[in-house]
Amino acid sequence: MEGQIESVDVQEAAESSPCSVEPCGERAAAEVDTRLLCLDHFLSVSFQELQSRHERLRGQECDPAVTAAFNKFLAEWARQAESLVEDARFADQQTKARLREALLWVSQAGKSLRRSPRLATAVPVWLRREDSRQTWEEDTWTSMLSRHGAAFVCRHPVEIGGTVVLTRKDKGSRAAAHVVYSRMDSEGRRQIGVELIDRDDFWD
Ligand SMILES: [Zn+2]
Repeated sequence: MEGQIESVDVQEAAESSPCSVEPCGERAAAEVDTRLLCLDHFLSVSFQELQSRHERLRGQECDPAVTAAFNKFLAEWARQAESLVEDARFADQQTKARLREALLWVSQAGKSLRRSPRLATAVPVWLRREDSRQTWEEDTWTSMLSRHGAAFVCRHPVEIGGTVVLTRKDKGSRAAAHVVYSRMDSEGRRQIGVELIDRDDFWD
């Protein structure tokens, strides 16, 4: 694909230039929307911009031009994040985990804009956590869905990498999943993202 060849060139050019966030000066690792960014600022400043643009789009009637521009930004961001995950020079597992977590958010954000109405993705589930130190179960519902994952409001603290069991209230089917992120949303609720283990038909 010609887009990929282009992004390699961009990345090579970016690597010899400094991050555009003042007064950072770190070597740039990515370029999004003609802005050069170091890895840290790619994951903070640029990712936050992505999230706030997504939030604004969700709150309004979709203007196709604005949505298209956002989707382009989203795709560009994801392509750079994917190549950074692949890059052996960033062996730091924590950074790779943050990139993967961001990519899961990106894939769900893209879907949530395409899907209408968003309520169609609200599936009621029991979320259960079992281990020797803490066992709990709560009623919740999905706030976002993807083939291999989902996001939920969760009242219990969970650690990234932990395993939870989901049971669909409508069908009774169960699946285990890994927690890939846990963060507070703008309304102060904990949102967790999970990736299903060995299942891709759970949500039909
Ligand atoms: Zn920087």
